[in-house]
Amino acid sequence: MTAADGSAQSEEVCYETRGSTSPERKDADQWKNVWALEVPGGYKHFVWSALNNALPTRSNLLKKKVCEDPWCPSCKREEEDVQHALWCCPGAADVWAVGWSPIRKWLNQFIDFSSLWEDLSNRLSPGCLVRVVAIIRGIWRRRNTFVFEDKFASSSQVVKIAVVGLEEFQEANVKVTRRLSKGVERREGRGWQKPLRALCKLNFDATVDVKNRRIGIGIIIRDCHGDVLVAVCLRKDNLVSPFIAECFALKISIELCLEMGFGSIMMEGDAKVMIEAMLSKELDESVHGQLIEDTKRLLAQ
Ligand SMILES: [Zn+2]
Repeated sequence: MTAADGSAQSEEVCYETRGSTSPERKDADQWKNVWALEVPGGYKHFVWSALNNALPTRSNLLKKKVCEDPWCPSCKREEEDVQHALWCCPGAADVWAVGWSPIRKWLNQFIDFSSLWEDLSNRLSPGCLVRVVAIIRGIWRRRNTFVFEDKFASSSQVVKIAVVGLEEFQEANVKVTRRLSKGVERREGRGWQKPLRALCKLNFDATVDVKNRRIGIGIIIRDCHGDVLVAVCLRKDNLVSPFIAECFALKISIELCLEMGFGSIMMEGDAKVMIEAMLSKELDESVHGQLIEDTKRLLAQ
């Protein structure tokens, strides 16, 4: 074998190695990436649902025999899958084409939403990405308003409502970091930050599904390098209060840490009001007092 042949083989091997990210690894990366977004929990779950093809598009409803055809309710030209509803449909593309849009000149080259998301995450700044997430969700809401109420908002309305909602969230939520067994730390920050020293870090969040009267809780523990150690998603029925949802998310997080033997871990959530209630030294005599006091006792262990 000549040297030239040898180097050609070597290049081929290297190329295959670079392109051989396992599906599990890709899922874990996407999960980390979505979880780190500085957006309300409901937005994260929406993106996660879109990535997992779990939105009730016509194509998905047809598979479940809930509707009779897969055609897009907005344009009626193509089958409606996640990628079509959020990106390709004229009922989405008009929003992406407006002047402010950082992605208005992107080509329609993505085979699915997962590929689009990969590009969005790699190419946009964190600030841009959260605006795009808010607008993606706005596009889905516009689609639903059209389907269920026969109203179709303009592209500028979609953008305005999405951005205002995001800004309200950013103003109202102060990042709070809490370290078990080391008192309380509070600090503001952007994006997921590595914990100081060699601690692990737990992030928790909760969402409320008012229609189905249930809450969803997500918990993720990473080591000091950012690698995911544990990821938990669970649901509780017959609850609709965002405050209670966040309380349960924190309580279950603490129980998980105690059960797994984490003596010292950083915990981070974004529900300012709930965390302030937990930090208060006053006995909580509100309607949620029992849950708050129980959680406080766990924190003190
Ligand atoms: Zn369409």
